[in-house]
Amino acid sequence: MDKCHVCGLEMKKEKVKVKLQDQTIEVDGARCGKCGEVLLDPEQAQRLLQLNKLYAGIEAKVGSLGKSLVVRIPCDVKQFLKITKGDRLIFTTDGRRLVLEKR
Ligand SMILES: [Zn+2]
Repeated sequence: MDKCHVCGLEMKKEKVKVKLQDQTIEVDGARCGKCGEVLLDPEQAQRLLQLNKLYAGIEAKVGSLGKSLVVRIPCDVKQFLKITKGDRLIFTTDGRRLVLEKR
């Protein structure tokens, strides 16, 4: 069990609600009963940070390879969606936005 780094007491495990954009997401964490300090599960906290970046949008530059154009998938996208080599992705568009979807 983790100890509170503020007052040194044992922290109770609980689901912590985190607001992200217009969503409230539940993350595994722990809370100190005395001072209210909250600790998030490091892996899930990392995912939240990535999701936050993805909400804001990550820029990718278009390159070329022979006659095709190529776009590299940024590391945060790769990790967040667990995309690996050989996965099949679907391009769709409404004429303005381009969506690359993992199905
Ligand atoms: Zn505390």
